[in-house]
Amino acid sequence: MSMMNAPWQEMGSFISQYMGILGLSMALTAFLGLMPISADRRMTFVSVFIGFGYLFIPSLLQLPSVYRNELYIDYLNKGTSRGHSTLFSQVEYTLHKLSLRLPMLTSVIALSDSVTFLTMQVNTQSTWQQVERLPHAPTLLVIGIGESLRAANMSLYGYSRDTTPKLMAMRDQLHIIRHAYAAGTNTWNAIPAMLTHGQGLPDLSQSIIHLAKDAGYQTFWLSNQAALGQWDFSITSLAKQADHAYFTSDELGGSQYDGVLLPQLSAAITATDQPKLIILHFYGSHMNFTDRYPQAFAQFSSASQLVDQYDNSVLYTDTLQHQLIELVLQHEGKYMFFADHGLGDPHSSIPLKHDVRRPPALDSLHVPLFMTPDPLLSIAEDAPLSLYNFECLFAQWAGISALQLSQDDFCQQSLASNILLYFDANMELHTDQLPTSQTRLNQLPPSMVDVDEIDLGQ
Ligand SMILES: [Zn+2]
Repeated sequence: MSMMNAPWQEMGSFISQYMGILGLSMALTAFLGLMPISADRRMTFVSVFIGFGYLFIPSLLQLPSVYRNELYIDYLNKGTSRGHSTLFSQVEYTLHKLSLRLPMLTSVIALSDSVTFLTMQVNTQSTWQQVERLPHAPTLLVIGIGESLRAANMSLYGYSRDTTPKLMAMRDQLHIIRHAYAAGTNTWNAIPAMLTHGQGLPDLSQSIIHLAKDAGYQTFWLSNQAALGQWDFSITSLAKQADHAYFTSDELGGSQYDGVLLPQLSAAITATDQPKLIILHFYGSHMNFTDRYPQAFAQFSSASQLVDQYDNSVLYTDTLQHQLIELVLQHEGKYMFFADHGLGDPHSSIPLKHDVRRPPALDSLHVPLFMTPDPLLSIAEDAPLSLYNFECLFAQWAGISALQLSQDDFCQQSLASNILLYFDANMELHTDQLPTSQTRLNQLPPSMVDVDEIDLGQ
């Protein structure tokens, strides 16, 4: 699959890199195939029977139960949103479950993912019109996108635990939007909706990356997430629009701590003299939380290990954000940070899980959003904000204008609006009243989800 997806040159270097292993496995196969079979037939039958029994019986016993939970329904819905039929998603789900016991089946899934990847519709052409950069617009823009970060678990947002001491210490330098709401429950539905101009489904031809490029910026996408995971395609399509895309790993998100992006940012800042937009995509507080921070950050302890571990990951993010901000400010750049989405309330029925319910609790969409230096925006810190129209915030922050954003006062109206727009995990677009300090967050619906095995998606 790697070869099929690669240009000719890379295919050649790939083959030469794996020539040894390829040759060895072919020789071994030939050797086994040519060996005379002299074993007792009964013995062979018993071996085969035991072997198949070992591999299949536990799976077949477990299989019926995996179709009886909400994750199964969620999987089918996500499949539909990716353009697959129900039958396709059912087969894929079954293969996923079977592959836990039979790892070789992951190749089948990889095959289908690869075909999806090859045939994917990617709008690489910009359709922005009349893009202009204001005369004194900043020349270094850096955006950090956090992962699964609840505003409610940051002391910067009033959390009782001191999870963000370093950001608190520089509070005076930050413009903090207190009521920002993500445009989706998961990475794959939230980020495309936030980084593009679209009325309904995201339109990748009108991304903020295209906007910045049209305004004369060199664009960078530096990511600690996976490039080719099952749910990563929509994000990767956006990343590939950038002039330079860097992923720490093709298949495994968060294989290293997020700090790995710090030297990458440093290199990008000095890479060119042109104006730059650099987008950092962190792995932040994605489960499993313990994998997200070095041991030195394991500082919280209470009766709830899960919350402790999550808060430790927030503490690590705090330190990293502080370092990034210092670096950007050193180079007289502008920095903005927000999270792709939050997670379920720790005391709810989906503690610190993606809220894939229908509809999700708005609390799980409440995310941090701050900027430095103070951007003198028209948006007050306590004004509620729907990140579905992030492109407007970006344009104002960056000093870029475009016809689609000014037409019919689109941005002026959407930034002042009290309407929250977001996608649920079924890619259904919801509208809701934006919660503010005065309005109480909606109550969590009763427990619907049994999420004790894997947390699907990002
Ligand atoms: Zn996410």
